Amino acid sequence: MAERMSLFAALLTLAAAGCAHAPPPPPVTVEIAVPTEATRTFTRGLSVAERYLVSEIRERRFTHDQLWSALGPLVDSDDFTVEEAGLSIGGRSIMTVTFGKGPATVLLWSQMHGDESTATMALADIIRFLGEADSDPLRNRLREQLTIVMIPMLNPDGAELFQRRNAIGVDINRDARRLATPEARILKEVRDRVDADYGFNLHDQNPHTQAGRDGPRAAIALLAPAADFERSWGPVRARARSVASIIAGVLEAEIPGKVARYGDAFNPRAFGDLMQQWGTSTVLIESGVLDDDPEKQRLRALNVAALLAAFDTIARDGLVAVETVWYDDLPPNRGFTHDLVVRGGTLMLSGAEPMKVDMAFTWEDGVRRSGLVLSEVGDLEEEYALEVIDATDLYIHPEAPFLSLDESGAWLLIDAPAAITLRKGPDRESELVMRIGGHH
Ligand SMILES: [Zn+2]
Repeated sequence: MAERMSLFAALLTLAAAGCAHAPPPPPVTVEIAVPTEATRTFTRGLSVAERYLVSEIRERRFTHDQLWSALGPLVDSDDFTVEEAGLSIGGRSIMTVTFGKGPATVLLWSQMHGDESTATMALADIIRFLGEADSDPLRNRLREQLTIVMIPMLNPDGAELFQRRNAIGVDINRDARRLATPEARILKEVRDRVDADYGFNLHDQNPHTQAGRDGPRAAIALLAPAADFERSWGPVRARARSVASIIAGVLEAEIPGKVARYGDAFNPRAFGDLMQQWGTSTVLIESGVLDDDPEKQRLRALNVAALLAAFDTIARDGLVAVETVWYDDLPPNRGFTHDLVVRGGTLMLSGAEPMKVDMAFTWEDGVRRSGLVLSEVGDLEEEYALEVIDATDLYIHPEAPFLSLDESGAWLLIDAPAAITLRKGPDRESELVMRIGGHH
């Protein structure tokens, strides 16, 4: 026992000695500048997005007909080859639009998920810019160095219903291995036919996602998907990381802290991952949300500018020199459940004892921030929320129709529209501090 005691004492001494050491120096962060050309093209891209905006489409929800009545006149030029790559399961044409005759082939596909339309809008603007007749150095360079193949709206039936899946309920992005759906087969056939060097897998992500723990909601998430379960860095994936890094670098300067890195767990059914296996260096771009951008028009412009910066870097053969630090240093893309937690209030329900609870709320439409619903009640101390209200000294008074009333009392309804007031006292008429949801 005495021996053990002395060992314990020795450990204490060691620990004390450890404390006496100087703290380790803070890590040195070296600022590496994004290549000037990429930054310049990105800035130019933002004005392209404004000037060449396809104004027929200004809202997130639009149909295949609406898209093609806007695109039809724009692609009717010698600059483009327009082909029907096949039909969706609902019989709608899935089209490819090809621009340029350069050695590097770039394949882009958007809206494989029918309700994820931000990049389709961006592709429409890019098509309009590429089809202009005036001589422009950027456009000329892209035409000479790249062959850009675009499939805007890969899932037109899903777009018609503004739903993720195709007409028979298959998630096309889980059909890359089996290729059971015509939409997935078309994408694979186009990839094989053009033998794409680069791929851009264009999506919109869950608005309840943030850039790093405690970070803001993610505006854009990027990924150079893994090609195997080991998540190894072969040359194809490494090249995709360089493309993603350029995009991360230019975006980070524009929307600091709001760009995230998507998780890279290998998915053997997903297109990004298998494209990488098939030899196409593929980058996933997920548009998320920005405050005050309910129709994602600002995100659309950022997509235009980021894609043009990526195209231009490829066209200039500038990828070899690209640092990966802008991609590697991105905060992880993290899902979260609650938008708002009210902590520590005293809940006043008629027919029940006052009780201490935390209450969590979530926007049903996270993009528009509308439709706040109650998502959880109880001890939510460890639950994360974007916004927290300390209600320790306050009383929570729920209001109908948030409550279910029957002869035994009043009860809260999970998933019902939020309607509570926070007041200074237990009495319903006491001083109002805050109203959450309900009628204003
Ligand atoms: Zn998606």
